[in-house]
Amino acid sequence: MADMITGSCLCGKVEFEVENQFEDLFFCHCQQCRKITGSAHASNLFGDPDGFRWLKGENDVTIFNYPDRQFTNVFCRHCGSGLPFLNSDGTKIIVPAGTLNSEPRFSRQSKIFHAEQTQWCRTGEQTRTFDGFPDD
Ligand SMILES: [Zn+2]
Ligand SMILES: [Zn+2]
Repeated sequence: MADMITGSCLCGKVEFEVENQFEDLFFCHCQQCRKITGSAHASNLFGDPDGFRWLKGENDVTIFNYPDRQFTNVFCRHCGSGLPFLNSDGTKIIVPAGTLNSEPRFSRQSKIFHAEQTQWCRTGEQTRTFDGFPDD
């Protein structure tokens, strides 16, 4: 039997499971991914759609298709957390890595659209670090 990994949105209304063997983990620094995530980059795992299924809350999954490019944002309609989606031709399931409940396995990882990386992301990778909130 395949090794499965589970994930969910923040509020827990939506849960899914997917086979824990991904081809790629892409950190995408493009502007659209920054807008979608509100963060420095997207962190998306690409896997086999046959290994994916919703466990609950499929009716709470909202899909936004960006008109100008093949771009999709999928999220929980209650809490707004990003959620997995099929790519446009249905050959890959794209799973935002932060939605997973444990560590994924993947064959390789890449930074893509790195030319669009922000300066604040670049400097942030070398900044001071705390295990929790800062001391001061
Ligand atoms: Zn939610
Ligand atoms: Zn991107």
